[in-house]
Amino acid sequence: MSVKIYPMNTGFIKLDNGVYITGGVGYGEEVEVPAWAFLVTDGKEKILVDTGMSDTKSADWHHPGSYQPGELRIDRQLAKLSIEVEEINAVIFTHLHWDHCANMKLFVNAEYFVHANELKFALDPHILYYKSYSSRKLGVIPPFDGVEFQTVEVEYEYNSFITFFPTPGHCPGHQSVAVKTDSGIYVIAGDAVFADENLKPDAHRKLPFTPMGRFVNVFELYDSMERIINRADHVFTGHGRAVGGQPVYP
Ligand SMILES: [Zn+2]
Repeated sequence: MSVKIYPMNTGFIKLDNGVYITGGVGYGEEVEVPAWAFLVTDGKEKILVDTGMSDTKSADWHHPGSYQPGELRIDRQLAKLSIEVEEINAVIFTHLHWDHCANMKLFVNAEYFVHANELKFALDPHILYYKSYSSRKLGVIPPFDGVEFQTVEVEYEYNSFITFFPTPGHCPGHQSVAVKTDSGIYVIAGDAVFADENLKPDAHRKLPFTPMGRFVNVFELYDSMERIINRADHVFTGHGRAVGGQPVYP
């Protein structure tokens, strides 16, 4: 079997368009976006990129009005593809924000990969990011509590069809995943490219694409977006609707 990528929506997040997506325009405009996770498989190996968002109670605490219909939870989405959680060989995390790593402990036979800088920051976040990382300082338990990770610091070739590489800026240790398929390179960008709008030229600022409004380092964010766009034949965004255009790619 050739390499296939299955996008799985794990719920819906309500957020401010200007603050999170289009930066500079669209402030005060509430939008609802999907929260993607991905299964990549060649028929033998089964690898997840992110595990998606949490249940409605926790999601609503993070971003009021966000919700997860039960059937969208990551294990239920995999069940629709006839895959059991025990079959997953590895989970590659783009980053450890709450909407990308919920329910991660379900994958009992998987190796977990994260960038070293991301794990360090997630375990002891700045006060501005307590909520994003479900910090214990707020009286909650982070999804990655007690989990053992393989940490990486540079580009890493996982196998013959998956390579992941650092794309910081949205958060300190973000990484994106390049997947080699019969139809070229698909890059699962995570939130390094947040939504469909971010791939379009920024008419407002006269830029070739539209940098997001939320970041820890805007220069890194810009360079990471550029690196992804140059490398990819196709880009999967972290929260864009276009990802759902097909049930499987290519
Ligand atoms: Zn996200």
